[in-house]
Amino acid sequence: MSATIRDRRWYSGIFVALLIVLVVAAFVIRWRMDTIKPDAVGDKPSGAFIYERATDVLADLLGNEAPHPVDSAANDEVRRKILARLNSQGYDPDVQDVTSCVSAEQTCARVRNIVALREGAAGGKLILVTAHYDSVPAGPGASDDGAGVAILLETARLIGQKPPGKNSVAFLFTEGEEAGLLGAEAFASRHPLAGRVAAVVNMEARGTSGQSMMFETGSHSGWLVNAFASTSRQPSANSLISAVYTLLPNDTDLSVFKERGIQGLNFAYGENFPLYHTPLDNLKAVDPGSLQQQGDNVYDLVDKLMDADLPDGDAMGSVVYTDILGTGMLHWSTLYGQIAAIALVLLFAFASWRLRRFDPYGGRSVLFGVLGFLVSLVVGVAVAYVLNYAQSAVHGTTNAWHTSSLFNRLFLWSSVLLVVVSLQRLLARKSSPVGLWIGMGWAWLMLSVATCFALPGISYLFLLPSVLFVVCALICSRPLTDDGRYMLQVPPALAVFVVVIPAIFLVEIMLGFNGGLGILVMGGFIGVTASVILPFAQSGNATRVYAYVTYVGLAVVVVSGALSFRAPAYTAQRPQPLNVMYVQDDHGKALVAAGTAFNHPPESVLAALGPDAALNNVFPWTDSRFYTVAVPTAALPPARLTILNTTNVGGSWQVTARIDADEHASMVELLIPRAAGLQAIEVDGNHLDYSTSTRDHNPFICRGASCNGRQITMTLKETGHEAIIAVEYRQLPEKAAAVARARGNLATARSDGNQSLVLGTVQL
Ligand SMILES: [Zn+2]
Repeated sequence: MSATIRDRRWYSGIFVALLIVLVVAAFVIRWRMDTIKPDAVGDKPSGAFIYERATDVLADLLGNEAPHPVDSAANDEVRRKILARLNSQGYDPDVQDVTSCVSAEQTCARVRNIVALREGAAGGKLILVTAHYDSVPAGPGASDDGAGVAILLETARLIGQKPPGKNSVAFLFTEGEEAGLLGAEAFASRHPLAGRVAAVVNMEARGTSGQSMMFETGSHSGWLVNAFASTSRQPSANSLISAVYTLLPNDTDLSVFKERGIQGLNFAYGENFPLYHTPLDNLKAVDPGSLQQQGDNVYDLVDKLMDADLPDGDAMGSVVYTDILGTGMLHWSTLYGQIAAIALVLLFAFASWRLRRFDPYGGRSVLFGVLGFLVSLVVGVAVAYVLNYAQSAVHGTTNAWHTSSLFNRLFLWSSVLLVVVSLQRLLARKSSPVGLWIGMGWAWLMLSVATCFALPGISYLFLLPSVLFVVCALICSRPLTDDGRYMLQVPPALAVFVVVIPAIFLVEIMLGFNGGLGILVMGGFIGVTASVILPFAQSGNATRVYAYVTYVGLAVVVVSGALSFRAPAYTAQRPQPLNVMYVQDDHGKALVAAGTAFNHPPESVLAALGPDAALNNVFPWTDSRFYTVAVPTAALPPARLTILNTTNVGGSWQVTARIDADEHASMVELLIPRAAGLQAIEVDGNHLDYSTSTRDHNPFICRGASCNGRQITMTLKETGHEAIIAVEYRQLPEKAAAVARARGNLATARSDGNQSLVLGTVQL
């Protein structure tokens, strides 16, 4: 029998040590992700990207930090500044000035993309570096995507100072990204340079700080990943983020190029997500470390690609990749991963067959090892589900997890660890450590094989620890002392900590605690991380050690849980998104609206609305109900649709009409009832397809100053139906403005922001 009392003590020592290492590793890894110190300027080589310069550029672009959405006077000013800088850098920038529409968003706008080209010696293919220079209507977009624009300008300046490379580089400043990727769509479908694009490097932000992550690639961008791996000083990138990102509804300009099979890499930082798309995405909030890291990532990569051989399409290959705690990157092709996973299984089978003589309980311990993994995974998810349920029950249904991310995190981690570790004690009874360890190894190896084939993006999480399981198993199966054999079972656990813990925090950054999915994925991964200490969980004589661990764990659960529950729902740093609307109809009636049953307005806002405030239906085309109060009309001018021409073509009606709106209008929206049988809308050579729509009201959205006077041609099955025409102004009349002020600093506008909407009708 190998499991003597002495052995068990040994094991419980390792058990506690591993648990401590897990917790400390989690703290250190999280701290490293949060803290990015930009190099001091003096430490940078000449010709390198320097965040101070980019910050100066950004401050100049933002001016008074007004929002600058697509086709607005404020964005005209931003464009003027970008063009002036490019000219002063010796470029001859070109402006692509077109109307662009995207069917998926039912949106059109006039966009003006700025393109500056640095022709390479070879002509031919080019590297396209992109960022968007419009913001959402609610905020100045200092990080999204002002920082990207500033980095793009600095990259252009630095590249312009170097002799031309082998390949050409084009710098593309798109407009209308926030309105639906309109600028990128116009470039990719119509710009003369589009056909030469070999690779796209895009910059974005989904917050105001944090690591600049390489979070998305094209389908066969392995070659670009290799280039990034060789240039990045502190890489933050893995194929898991790419896989998670596809779960999010977000899109960036890179999506437009990916749809066309063009390869590319996407960079963004995403901490402080509550500030994203709000007025607080301002210059002050931009983290200099994030700016420096994003600038380094992009400039160094473009610098390398300028002189690289650019392969075509599939030759680039699909890859699995991950950074190792920001120190470097591992990457391999999906095919190699699959071959390696199978080879590892064969080697592990051989080693575990040789190890069987150290397992006095035969196959049962191995089975318990596999079971231990599955139980840890399932229990992790279950505990997360229960915590989420409890938060929802206490706080109401939405945004159940409140503002203290530290205590939310501690509460989740300590709860999962406590339950998983307690169960491990039960499972480890009457099992041999070696058998449990082999079973655990089998679980990781089997998941390696499964993910390498089914979900290669996340396979590195299982493949890398599996390599250590196999190496250690092979060494263990040779003649060794028992102590030596036990020590050799530790490295795979450490590999799991290094590889899986960062992934848990990335899921937290990308999916957050609220919304259901993120918390379950985190719970499952925490359980899986803890599973690897099962082989050391033998109770033996060390009951007191376990008792202490349990007491400490319980104390952390109780304290962090209490603080997590008691944290305020919103703070000035994590404000509630709450837009205020003034809505006026064509019967002389008007109302102010703020908040819904699900996004309940703060008391101060309800008080400002007045005692008559109640949940009401505001728009005829949706069931959404808002807190509203009737107000005197501010008599804002409505938009008009003038029918110019109606002809019958092959049984359907072609209705050509002109939109007339006040010069201050920022958006005009048509809502065409289903009965009219809308098939398509043509706008200045763009085609919006509605033929498969089943909506009660089909929207057509025109954004920006150029909506006034715009002609559209609708293809309808029937004429004579009444459509709604809405026009938007950014200014709020006095009563609505007072409600907006009443939000204080715990709530703020987001995305489309505060709006005045004037509704009217038109006979089609
Ligand atoms: Zn953006």
